[in-house]
This record gives sequence, structure tokens and C-alpha cells, in this order.
Amino acid sequence: MTVYLVGAGPGDPGLLTRRGAEVLGRADVILFDRLVDPRLLKLAPVGALRIDVGKRPGQPRHQDEVNALIIEHGRQARTVVRLKGGDPFVFGRGGEEAEALLSAGLAFEVVPGVTSAFAAPASAGVPVTHRGLSSSVTVVSGHVGDPGAPGAVDWVSLARAGGTLVVLMGMANRAEIARRLVDAGRPPDTPVVVVHRGTTTTQADVRTTLAGLAEVELGPPCTIVIGPVAALDLRAARGGPLSGTRVVVTRARTQASELVSRLVDAGATVIEVPVIAFEDPRDGGAALRAEAALVGTYDWVVFTSSNAVERFLGLLRDIRDLGGARVAAVGAATARTLAAYRLVADLVPDEATGEGLVSAMPAASTGGPHAGRVLFPRAEEVRDVVAPGLRDKGWEVTEVDAYRTVPAAAAHRVGDELDDVQGADVITFTSPSTVTYYVDLARQRPPPPVVACIGPVTADAARRAGFQVDVVAGEHSAEGLVTALSAHITASHLRRGPEGLAQGEATPPG
Ligand code: SAH
Repeated sequence: MTVYLVGAGPGDPGLLTRRGAEVLGRADVILFDRLVDPRLLKLAPVGALRIDVGKRPGQPRHQDEVNALIIEHGRQARTVVRLKGGDPFVFGRGGEEAEALLSAGLAFEVVPGVTSAFAAPASAGVPVTHRGLSSSVTVVSGHVGDPGAPGAVDWVSLARAGGTLVVLMGMANRAEIARRLVDAGRPPDTPVVVVHRGTTTTQADVRTTLAGLAEVELGPPCTIVIGPVAALDLRAARGGPLSGTRVVVTRARTQASELVSRLVDAGATVIEVPVIAFEDPRDGGAALRAEAALVGTYDWVVFTSSNAVERFLGLLRDIRDLGGARVAAVGAATARTLAAYRLVADLVPDEATGEGLVSAMPAASTGGPHAGRVLFPRAEEVRDVVAPGLRDKGWEVTEVDAYRTVPAAAAHRVGDELDDVQGADVITFTSPSTVTYYVDLARQRPPPPVVACIGPVTADAARRAGFQVDVVAGEHSAEGLVTALSAHITASHLRRGPEGLAQGEATPPG
């Protein structure tokens, strides 16, 4: 029975410590902050209880309430992870949570994290100290109360001390902070950089001076860096066919990472608007578990998504339970997920669609020892293509619900992200459900000028929803989509010159 106060890092889920990942991997309960990336929650066991204790506008949680929750679960559960943004002991009230645990007599461990105070500047190319420019760094909260009050920030002394100032939670008071520092002697032309969502794919940074700080408009969370180092920009220049292109990814956040990293590698700025999320099937997975126990009685197991692979294979007691059953994957990405379980797909069609899979499958007369039986673990709302197609070929198909796709708005948060779509150049769709749920969320907002789809089925869904589709990937994978999009963007730059994409070409859906 231990409570872990774990630092989640500044935003990029790759910046969680190994110790943090290890305790998350065996958590019974996770109490997480609003800024924590949902991909980190995926590291916990499927059955772990995940509780959002984030403070959000309109429904504030008092720290006392959070402390009480931690203690309540700490007394009951075996392993409780309190997952906090950045480092648990740098602002964010982690110290108070530790005090509460001490007075409750509960065992706990602090797992430090990478603080945004240093990581956000670094991700904007700013070292917080630099030989010859700054030999000290002070991390302060942006509170501007009465200078004499206990615990207040002494802006006058900070201004005189020199060195680098890193201000967290300072955006609301940025004008007052700049004024106090200038009044106390910092030159108005002191370099400043404001970093929004540092280390994430949606990071933005603005370079200015103390005189210009009041004008910076960036939403939360932001870190403000003040001092000569803020004039540095130690980032390698990024090239690539998509540089300067802002691309919206609508895929579920837990699934988007390959597409996002390929887009970023091609130079794009990515705006993640996950419009779908995945949940257990309505029966809680009972039917899937039953079929997993019987898998050896099938000739084939057919997968049309990585999700189905993970959900199904995760339930196998022993991979050898597959016995002689052969395995089919709809496309390269699904086959790669199988490969992660050391299973080489026996069949991957050239055309990565349900239709392609059906036509590549042999007829049932060539079936194995189990009288032509096929198991098809799939999404609840799958298109009716694979099962009827295989039945036409003589197979006896058992369909089983492995998961279901739900609108992300219900399960996660999509809000500020939708505003970011306004300035985007491209929107990508990776399944018909991303189209449907995007239209539901975006309502009448005009889409970005370029619409790119992973394959013909998704493209048809997009056209039916009223989009003009500009790009359809030839190979229906994240890689294929990025390749096709890069070719399209390069061609349109050649047509229109390098200033970027012409706006206003899009047809609003509806
Ligand atoms: N314990 C956290 C800080 C909590 S206070 C840490 O060590 O990072 C919350 C403040 O952190 C925000 O108001 C913002 O100033 C800063 N912050 C958190 N995540 C950030 C990010 N990804 N980019 C920039 N600033 C961030």
C-alpha cells in the first residue's frame, strides 16, 4: 500500500521517467491533473481506476478535496499514483499533498519529473543558463500580490539580482510583472520568450521584450523566460516538404503517435484534435474473452485494425493457444502491431481495405482442419464488408466485439484544440468515424483548405459529409498519408509560389 507522487513531465509523454512508468504500470488507482497527456494513462493496467482531479473553469476542486481523495484511495488500494504535471514539488501543490499523506500516516514516495520551468525554455531553443550570458536562474510564480505579504514574490530584488527569470503561471499578470521589473531597473529591451505547451506537438513560442510582454496572446499553459538567454534560439533548422504547414490530426490520441511523428519529421506543425476515443465493448469484453480461450478452434483470425489486435491478443493466456490458426491483417500497420506480438501475418492484401482483405482471402474449400471457421474480432460499429464477404466465400465467420469507437468529447477533452483548427492548412481523416465525429464537433466551422484521407473508404465518407477531398493516400497507412500529402503540398507550392497555401478554397461541409 503505497502512494506515489509522480511527475508526469512537461507535456511530451516521452519525458516521463522510467520510475514513473514502472509505478504507473502497476497502479490500481491514478489521480491525474488536467495537463497530463492521456497517453500516459494508457501505461496503467486496463482495469485501473482513473480519476481526473484537474481544476477546470466552472468546477474547481479544492486542494483539501484532492488531498482527501488521495488519502481515501491510499487507505484502500494497493498502489495509488498521483500523477502531476512537470515535477511534483515545483509549484502545483505537491508539497501540500505530501504533508497530508504524512499526517495521515500513509507510506508514500516522490518520483521527480522533468519540470516545465526548464523543459519549456529548452524546447524553444533557450538554455536557462549560458556561459557569459547568465549564471543563475530563478523560478517564480507569477503572483503579484502585495510585495510585503508572506511568500510574496519580491520582484524588486529579482530585478536587481540579474540572471534568468522563469515565470510559471504568469500570463494573467504579465503586464504587471513587466512593469515591476522595468520599474526596478531591468531594461525594457530585455529579451523575453513565452512558450506555450512546450515539448508538445502543439507548442508555440513568441519572442519579445519586457516592453512587449503585455501584447503576447497565448492560451494556457505558458512559461515566460526573461533575460539575455531569451535571445538565443538553439534549435536545428527544420526542413522537409511540410515545413510551415499546419496539419490537423483527428485520430484518437492513443493511436495518433505514428502519424504525428511522421508529420513532424516531414516538417509539419501538428494540431491534435482527437475526435474519437476507444472504449470497451458494451458487454465489457466478455464475448472477446470467451473467444480468446477458444481461438485454437478456428482456421483463421482476421484483423482490420491495430486496436483489435491489441484488445484480442492482450487476452491470450499463451500465444501458442493460437494453435494452427492463421492470421490475416488488413494492412501494414495492423501487421506491424501483430509483429509486436511476434506474429507474422499469413496474409496482408495489397489493397488495405475490407474489400481488399476479402478478395485476398482464399476460398473456404482450401480451409484448415476446423471446417472453415474464421474469427473476426472487430469494432462494434464496423462496416458490413468483411464478414459477409467471407461468408460468400464459404467461410463460417464468428464476429466478436473487441472495442467500440465513441466521440472523444464524451471521453476526453476537445475544446481549445478546436479553435486551433481555424489557422490550419490541412485536415487529415484516418477513418470514416473521424469524419463523422469531426463534423459533429466542428458544426458549421469551415474546414482547413486541404482535406487529406488515408484511403478510399474514408475519402467517400468525407465526400458524403460535404468535404472536397484533395488527397487520398495510395498506401493506406500513416506513412502513405504523409507521402501523399507531402507530394500535394509540394505541387501546390510550385503552382502558387512559396508564400503558403491559398485560403478560402474549401467547401464547408453540410
Ligand atoms: N509542477 C509543474 C508546474 C505546475 S504550475 C512543473 O514542474 O512543470 C503550472 C504552470 O506550469 C503553468 O501555469 C505553466 O506556467 C507551466 N507549464 C506547465 N506545462 C507547461 C508547458 N507544457 N509549457 C509551458 N509551460 C507549462
